[in-house]
Amino acid sequence: ESQLNPNYSFENFLEGDSNRLARSAGLAVAAKPGGTSFNPLLVFGGVGLGKTHLVHAIGVDIKDKYPEKTVLYISAEKFTQQYIDSVKKNNRNDFIHFYQIIDVLIIDDVQFLSGKTGTQDVFFHIFNHLHQNGKQVILTSDKAPVDMQDIEQRLLSRFKWGLSAELQTPDFETRVSIVKNKLYRDGVDMPEEIIDYVAKNIKSNVRELEGAIISLIAQSSFNKKEVTLDLARIVVEKFVKNTKREVSIDYIQKVVSDYFQMDVSTLQSKTRKRHIVQARQLAMFFAKKFTKASLASIGSQIGKRDHATVLHACKTVDNLTTTDKQFKKYVEDITKKLSV
Ligand code: ADP
Ligand code: MG
Repeated sequence: ESQLNPNYSFENFLEGDSNRLARSAGLAVAAKPGGTSFNPLLVFGGVGLGKTHLVHAIGVDIKDKYPEKTVLYISAEKFTQQYIDSVKKNNRNDFIHFYQIIDVLIIDDVQFLSGKTGTQDVFFHIFNHLHQNGKQVILTSDKAPVDMQDIEQRLLSRFKWGLSAELQTPDFETRVSIVKNKLYRDGVDMPEEIIDYVAKNIKSNVRELEGAIISLIAQSSFNKKEVTLDLARIVVEKFVKNTKREVSIDYIQKVVSDYFQMDVSTLQSKTRKRHIVQARQLAMFFAKKFTKASLASIGSQIGKRDHATVLHACKTVDNLTTTDKQFKKYVEDITKKLSV
């Protein structure tokens, strides 16, 4: 069985700036599986931003258009488990053969393969076989290939062959349309101001956004409570509190520029003045340390730099911290400010 969830369709995957590229690439792949240069298609992004949904949608659409094609969705975790079992049972070759005859292979959360060299090795061979035979491979990951750790170089280079498309956090408009679509599908009405309130306050995770709405629907239908702004506040607070608070990159830039008594725009500017460069490098270093953002994403948020610049900044800060007493004090001071 394909393991695809028909509810995760393109129709239900609302489009916005945050997902337009990945969504369009997904549609292109679904129209011509194995026949585009998006092979593999790698969808990456943070938790709850729709990676699993989108790759299911591609699979569901392919099954619709090409019923004769074999499409298989599997998490990297389950794939690993199957592989380990096959080794134990002495049928590693059957395992490999099973995957080599699939037309469209979807593997979710490949970051799980980090450090698992045996599974990476077998996947490398399966990948090559599928790719050579014009079969489609679709992957998801929580990071861009450049930021992946403990994945063999040869596999990483395969990941980069096709297209890596990021799912970013959706903007307010998109969050509102996701909420409205959810309410519509459940046949529930909700006042506009409540929808706005929830969409305004739950920003970084679509799963949580949906969770808050489901909770409000439940309160109103089972507890017969009227959905007021007060109720919405309580529900939203629960969701926001339950998620570990992560310092944002915006906040880090603010703290660092305050510390050096400059504006955030100065910190982000292209200038090569030494004290400004250092402030910028510190902001990058702390963003790497205190957030889960990728190097690429940190760079784009701190003055539109690339991932290599961020990597260089982190190394420079590490070096200066050991060689320069004054600099070490900056790092300690700012760490304190960020930790309260
Ligand atoms: P991830 O795999 O990235 O952690 P999921 O695919 O599990 O995220 O998505 C979390 C929830 O958010 C799912 O219920 C999914 O349907 C929903 N979701 C995410 N993005 C969208 C979108 N653009 N439109 C509609 N629903 C979305
Ligand atoms: Mg997922």
